[in-house]
Amino acid sequence: MNDLAKLPAVDRLLAHAAVAPLIESLGRAVVTQLLRDTLAEVRAEVRAGAPLPDEAALLEKVSRGATPLMQPKLRAVFNLTGTVLHTNLGRAVLPEEAVAAIASVAHSPCVLEYDLESGRRGDRDDIVNDLLRELTGAEAATVVNNNAAAVFLLLDTLARKKEVVVSRGELIEIGGAFRVPDIMKRAGAKLVEVGTTNRTHLKDFAEAITPRTAMLMKVHASNYAIQGFTTAVPENELAELAHARGLPFVVDLGSGTLTNLERWGLPHEPTPRAAIAAGADLVTFSGDKLLGGPQAGLIVGRKDLIAKIKKNPLKRALRVGKLTLAALEAVLRLYRDPDRLAERLTTLAQLTRAEDEIRAAAGRLLPTMQDALAGLPIRVDIVALKSQIGSGSLPVDRLPSAGFAIRPQGKRSGMINRIEQAMRGLPRPVIGRIEDGALLLDLRCLNASDEAELSRQLAQLIC
Ligand SMILES: *Cc1c(COP(=O)(O)O)cnc(C)c1O
Repeated sequence: MNDLAKLPAVDRLLAHAAVAPLIESLGRAVVTQLLRDTLAEVRAEVRAGAPLPDEAALLEKVSRGATPLMQPKLRAVFNLTGTVLHTNLGRAVLPEEAVAAIASVAHSPCVLEYDLESGRRGDRDDIVNDLLRELTGAEAATVVNNNAAAVFLLLDTLARKKEVVVSRGELIEIGGAFRVPDIMKRAGAKLVEVGTTNRTHLKDFAEAITPRTAMLMKVHASNYAIQGFTTAVPENELAELAHARGLPFVVDLGSGTLTNLERWGLPHEPTPRAAIAAGADLVTFSGDKLLGGPQAGLIVGRKDLIAKIKKNPLKRALRVGKLTLAALEAVLRLYRDPDRLAERLTTLAQLTRAEDEIRAAAGRLLPTMQDALAGLPIRVDIVALKSQIGSGSLPVDRLPSAGFAIRPQGKRSGMINRIEQAMRGLPRPVIGRIEDGALLLDLRCLNASDEAELSRQLAQLIC
């Protein structure tokens, strides 16, 4: 008890020179609370038998407690996982043009829903409507918070208390929480599954149509592939059947890109333009997957159907804000110039980055990496790796890449976990992946300015 009385009071610590920078950064109220919490912790430790810390040790503890308070929760990291569109790491990294557009409308009022010509109220969808029409060939477009919201709003508008015919092979789950059957149920639509997991024929759809049918739907089976003995009905045949029966045909594309990726040697991904050309009445896709923009859900298609969707009161609940629209408009503009797209659109630049170039970056970083890990029972090698597109693109389509493999020497496998943890603990955390006991760092998504920063950080690594 006597010992505890020797601990300095909160007021004395607040006046201490070492605490001044903390007050400057966090404010007096937060630091006062931090000092109280730290002192309470120390008292509990001393009561449990720990020695009384001296003033330096106490201040050190306070400073350690302050570190997480000074950092935002939503922190930038280095994505060295090898998955370009990593959902847990925020999917698409935005191009400079989009970042500048966000900053501009964040700093000032903007014409979010204001028609400059008439001086009257405008429609926020008009910001990207013309661009989306031009880039997809659709008559009209609307934007919501994400693609799950787009699918939900579409079903709620057109299929409530009605039936939606979908191939059994397309009843997918994406990233844990998005399941087509669950979304349908929530939207009050009845799912009618046709065909079998691997084969669905046009007559399966035709026989499933009843007076209660609202639409025929196709879901792009984005994150898995059914191979071998398979049949799926082509979009144009489904569209033809739907139209002959007076029904809309809708396609949930998921990752829909607005350009032909094969031009850059990437695997083929279906585009909204192709779906519209095949006769789809509505197409939904994400803004932050292959499109390379902000999180958003885009619905493009027939003008009358888009107008109906926009009248649904839920549209108001699912709409996007000005920051999203600023970024989306900037990204869509880049698509108007396909010749420069691979340099300007960050996602595409990352996906098309040549293996040689990635390997060269690994070569430049190797000495720093070896220095950072010197003395540990491990070895670092530059290795060939396979990156993934991610976010619902086929996991079988891998991109040749390069990076580091950090392997234990001998049986010290705990060492690799310790290094992985230390990398995650850096000011800008480095996120890699552990595979077969090795820590793999794929450098595909490390651009030139990131490279310098990573280098500086590795010098601070403490394992
Ligand atoms: C990713 C995906 C979704 C969900 O999109 P979010 O933008 O993540 O909400 C829906 N459908 C398909 C086919 C997808 O690939």
